[in-house]
Amino acid sequence: MTETTLSSLQELTFDNRFVRELPADPERENYRRQVNDACFSYVDPTPVTQPSLLAYSREMLQQLDLTESLADSDEFLQVFAGNNVLPEMQPYAMCYGGHQFGHWAGQLGDGRAILLGDVINRQNQRWSLQLKGSGLTPYSRNADGLAVLRSSLREFLCSEAMHHLGIPTTRALSLVTTGEKVVRDMLYDGNPQFEPGAVVCRVAPSFTRFGNFQILTAQRSFDTLQKLLDYTIKTDFPHLDLSAPEVYRQWFEEVCIRTADMIVHWMRVGFVHGVMNTDNMSILGLTIDYGPYGWLEDYDPDWTPNTTDAQGRRYRFSHQPQVAHWNLLQLAEAIYPLINDAAPLEQALQSYADHFQQQYQRMLANKLGFADSSDEINQLLTDLFSLLQQVETDMTLFYRGLARVDLSQQALPLESVKQALQDAWYQPDQIDDQYLSALAQWLARYQQLIDSDQITEAQRQQQMNAVNPKYVLRNYLAQQAIDRAAEGDVTLLHELHEVLRRPYDEQPEQEKFAEKRPEWARHKPGCSMLSCSS
Ligand code: AMP
Ligand code: MG
Repeated sequence: MTETTLSSLQELTFDNRFVRELPADPERENYRRQVNDACFSYVDPTPVTQPSLLAYSREMLQQLDLTESLADSDEFLQVFAGNNVLPEMQPYAMCYGGHQFGHWAGQLGDGRAILLGDVINRQNQRWSLQLKGSGLTPYSRNADGLAVLRSSLREFLCSEAMHHLGIPTTRALSLVTTGEKVVRDMLYDGNPQFEPGAVVCRVAPSFTRFGNFQILTAQRSFDTLQKLLDYTIKTDFPHLDLSAPEVYRQWFEEVCIRTADMIVHWMRVGFVHGVMNTDNMSILGLTIDYGPYGWLEDYDPDWTPNTTDAQGRRYRFSHQPQVAHWNLLQLAEAIYPLINDAAPLEQALQSYADHFQQQYQRMLANKLGFADSSDEINQLLTDLFSLLQQVETDMTLFYRGLARVDLSQQALPLESVKQALQDAWYQPDQIDDQYLSALAQWLARYQQLIDSDQITEAQRQQQMNAVNPKYVLRNYLAQQAIDRAAEGDVTLLHELHEVLRRPYDEQPEQEKFAEKRPEWARHKPGCSMLSCSS
């Protein structure tokens, strides 16, 4: 191993193609402004006084050919706190726009994220490094360019957890506190407080968003738009042939498919992004920008964690597939000037809908242990969702419990069904005889379909547990880790990080992290509701 790891960050190889090949904002001063006809602005991270490393990702270190002992060094801390810019780094903030909650918002851009450059690892893979919370940029608008511990810890833990769940996502290398205080009005109720500042180093093959294209089209900067799209295809979609006449359509179609796959994953595990604005949509189909996201506890398709969206619930769980489609339509409009033909774009959007529907049905069938969907399974699922909503049922625990119900017996004993599923029920007094008998009828139909597909109990359990996680970053667990870390105790953060590395495994010694939300957390800020303030 030693010969393939680096002994200093100075040995990292950078290839800063984005800044080398794309038009830069000519202004080098760091002040807030509108930037025209450029893809980015050069800007340095703001140094911090007392950085301290709270956590790092072993897997991300490995990807960058770095060791854990290097991660414990002062060199690592200073670089990933933003205090030391390595000679090969060329820090910059991206220019992008976006639709926020359905309305065009004009220029947004990296207001508190600073890209350091692209590392090329020993396996020739490209990893862009980005500090989030590293101070003002030309895109900071009326905000401070900073991030607090609360939101940074949530982003660090969740993005790594998503990766281990097998879901495309940006990654997190490190979580650092800055030693500085940041003012936030967490609930937007006129009670601003000082909170600890933090910086996360996010990592992804590319951070380009739908909004990077949208802003150029809005400015009618069509040459730069084409440069950005050609660059993106060359760099992030190298399997596409840039000289092919249909390459833009092919590219867009691939973005559609990747986005559909990402949303299917979110629906599988009960993830609600919370702010699916077009500036928060990655062209690689990665989950990006972890803000007021949340995990479904009781199965409520209308649930959104985002208090800012509580009225319209645009970004509620069940609406995510349609919102992604709407966002893709905005991307289609952004690249339309390069194609000048609506038909191929409409066709690609249709392929989003078709691909999503097919993969979504299959995913839901897989969650019950079936290899693929069928009309009968779809009907079974519709009836299941109605049952799950009749009583408050934890989605994650329900599927794990269902895998444990023994379907090999002819007449299912109600007591054993109750025992297998009781952990999933938030209000045991809702479980009356009527409900149990409806559930038993549903189970009997399920049993028949499993039998007719000749799926053994062992196979069913194994298949279900491979797609239904046992451990997800429950909203109240993240909040507990935040409260403890704010007091200087990072044990819970590390424990959670560790458990979430193997979300499908039983891990009997970690049973406490699989429990349903306790009653005290039902209406507690951070546990059940989150604002955009971060
Ligand atoms: P978000 O909703 O977090 O994706 O952010 C929307 C826009 O606001 C992006 O352009 C962010 O860079 C910017 N932004 C959010 N928080 C801050 C902050 N504290 N300082 C500067 N810009 C911010
Ligand atoms: Mg964002």
